[in-house]
Amino acid sequence: MNILVINAGSSSLKYQLFQMEEGNILAKGRVERIGMETAILTHEPTGKAEVHEVREILEHTTAIRKVLELLVHPEHGVLASTSEIDAVGHRVVHGGESFKSSVLVNDEVKKEIKRLFDLAPLHNPAHMLGISAVEANMPGVPQAVVFDTAFHQSMPAHAYLYPVPMALYRKHKVRRYGFHGTSHNYVSERAAAFLGRPLEQLKLVTCHIGNGASCAAIMGGKSVDTSMGMTPLEGLMMGTRSGDLDPAIVPYAMGKEDLTLGEISSMLNKHSGLQAISGISSDMREIVEALEAGDKNAALAFEMYEYRLRKYIGAYVAAMNGVDAIVFTAGVGENSELLRQTVCERLTFLGVEFDEEANRKGRGLERRISKQGSKVEVLVIPTNEEWVIARDTFGLIQSQNIRLELSKIDFSHGNRNSVQ
Ligand code: AMP
Repeated sequence: MNILVINAGSSSLKYQLFQMEEGNILAKGRVERIGMETAILTHEPTGKAEVHEVREILEHTTAIRKVLELLVHPEHGVLASTSEIDAVGHRVVHGGESFKSSVLVNDEVKKEIKRLFDLAPLHNPAHMLGISAVEANMPGVPQAVVFDTAFHQSMPAHAYLYPVPMALYRKHKVRRYGFHGTSHNYVSERAAAFLGRPLEQLKLVTCHIGNGASCAAIMGGKSVDTSMGMTPLEGLMMGTRSGDLDPAIVPYAMGKEDLTLGEISSMLNKHSGLQAISGISSDMREIVEALEAGDKNAALAFEMYEYRLRKYIGAYVAAMNGVDAIVFTAGVGENSELLRQTVCERLTFLGVEFDEEANRKGRGLERRISKQGSKVEVLVIPTNEEWVIARDTFGLIQSQNIRLELSKIDFSHGNRNSVQ
């Protein structure tokens, strides 16, 4: 079975085509600057030359049509016909309280995703564009949606509620949802497999540290807390996002600087974090380069970033009353030796024994960076959100096929027999 995974943003669309039985990626790519005459299309078919085109792509339906043309292209394609695509899986950022797991798309599901536009105004409308674009280009092909929030729906009320008047929750669904769920779910499963222990028996702190960053406390395979909240702004300090701050700063800064709601929101989401403190970059590679060259602001930005991450790890160990393993993943978590080393060397009170040599080796691989016998294990697990989306879509299609097969069987004879 071939499954196309799509991550649609407002002006971009990323895709990966999986052959599920072998677990192979047949092709991947992205369309950027959708809506412009100079949209950029990058197509990477496995084992063939990469295609890079700049052309007019004004909306998502055209973007998907171009992607499908490339997937069956005589020279750059990987399929004989688009009919070889059995299903499409979409990433959807916000599933609110309605979606606790991935689902197949139908009219009800689409209506519910639209109802959630308010909670994720930048993301969910773009995902709907992706779903409609697939419908227009591939009518009848089943589609599934996989939500960033779904994995965290297991959080208990004491973790997901804010201590504000309950009317805000009842009337407007103001609560913590958490994000990066697909990634936290995947790395927790892989961590258990790596350790050779049942996930049901493990207490894990997973750290998804990329452009956006969040930690999760995972007990017995279920998320019991996570650092992002109602929106992906809460929690850790990030590349351009502030993470946690005193909410009173918002009206205070608005008054002092004469800022509108849009401006303060843009400040906290796009002009804060590493970028604001270093004055150099939101990219951890550039921060580390600058601090190694002696830049004081870069050093302060790194120190704040690491400190806030380590405090969350400590909080989640307390939340679970223990921890078996800490897992690092995503762009910074998988690649920044310095961040992992600094965090781990300051967690000795927990019983973390850090292995400096292991930390330097094996980039791109699942690995242990704590010493053999360390009371708390520390792992680096490369995340793979696209694979989880493909796998969930595959599972949903298979269970639907089983239901269809069962519905074809005439059970009436069996029933008659049992009555007699
Ligand atoms: P992600 O959102 O998971 O794609 O992560 C992207 C971020 O990972 C980039 O903005 C960088 O800050 C970070 N990153 C990527 N490679 C490295 C590296 N070698 N060292 C430190 N940070 C890195």
